[in-house]
Amino acid sequence: MYNSKAYSAASAKSPLASAKINRRDPTPHDVQIEILFCGICHSDVHLVRNEWSGALPTVYPIVPGHEIVGRVTKVGAAVTKFKPGDLAGVGCMVDADCTCPECKAGFEQFCPNMIMTYNSPDKHGAGPVTYGGYSDSIVVNDHFVLRVPANLNLAGVAPLLCAGITTYSPMRHWGAGKGKKVGVVGLGGLGHMGVKFAHALGAHVVVFTTSPNKKDDALRLGADEVVISKNANEMQKHGGSFDFILDAVAAQHDLNAYLNMLRRDGTITLVGAPEKHLEISAFSLLMGRRSLSGSLIGGIPETQEMLDFCGKHNITSDVEVIPMQKVNEAYERMLKSDVKYRFSIDMASLKSE
Ligand code: NAP
Ligand code: ZN
Repeated sequence: MYNSKAYSAASAKSPLASAKINRRDPTPHDVQIEILFCGICHSDVHLVRNEWSGALPTVYPIVPGHEIVGRVTKVGAAVTKFKPGDLAGVGCMVDADCTCPECKAGFEQFCPNMIMTYNSPDKHGAGPVTYGGYSDSIVVNDHFVLRVPANLNLAGVAPLLCAGITTYSPMRHWGAGKGKKVGVVGLGGLGHMGVKFAHALGAHVVVFTTSPNKKDDALRLGADEVVISKNANEMQKHGGSFDFILDAVAAQHDLNAYLNMLRRDGTITLVGAPEKHLEISAFSLLMGRRSLSGSLIGGIPETQEMLDFCGKHNITSDVEVIPMQKVNEAYERMLKSDVKYRFSIDMASLKSE
């Protein structure tokens, strides 16, 4: 075991504060990474505040962070994919059984024994639960470590590990591309990546936002049209016209308004995970044989595919780089939709702790 600097929260009502945590020494299949940047996902806020207590209760203290990019410092004897000095990424998962049908199909995120990067039982015993990327170092099984294209800005790469794959995967699964009209609801961390991917895949992209001040950015990010969702007239114009809509909203909102915008056999995929249940009118689905689905991050092979796609198309997240000491302020700003479009924590700021 060795000590790592981190930021953790002691309870749902506590701010994140400086802490020391244990990390295991690398075992033969482990990769030790010096973390350079970690993105702030809205899931971090949900979990730190125990907002998913029904489905996923939080164990305290919690060290959040699952959008990790850094440099390899040490590898176990059996690791062949990485060597010290390589760039490396880690997303929302750090382990799974790797033998079940889901793992064999490359869907580790659906493995019944999947271990999340933080807040899952730690079978290595470095802590009661796994600790995430708001930290200067992490040790991860090599299967769950991703190769990072060398041509990309690292602060902007970090959010690809969650916001990137979470939007890339459903866009690919539902065939967002040329000739398709694709909606993205909520221009936050996930939403802005959804816009970039849908645009890069060749779809006609419409952004739905509650924030009129994001209109120009939405167009710059790749949207063809922007709808201010509070404006009923603007909303009505798009009724029954979408092939696919990605809903990336973190709070309560009216899903039926978006279901009614789908054309026949159109689909909405939820990636946003609001604290409270969403209400659905049966008729929103019956009319037009519409579908409602969900999507959870993406498997390791697809995450690598997404990173390679980003390398080829020069895609990164638009980030505001902050020191760790501003993390609590960043959470408050995120809750006010005041983030353009992802906070990325510069881990060099932990050196002074
Ligand atoms: P975020 O950066 O805070 O973005 C959420 C956006 O939702 C906001 O920027 C805002 O966009 C919109 N919004 C916020 N409050 C709203 C309201 N009351 N009504 C309508 N729109 C509202 O969050 P994020 O990191 O992108 O995460 C979004 C959600 O996805 C979270 O619930 C998160 O936990 C979840 N998530 C799921 C997965 C998965 O695997 N499925 C992975 C990561 C995150 P506008 O200003 O444009 O309206
Ligand atoms: Zn996330």
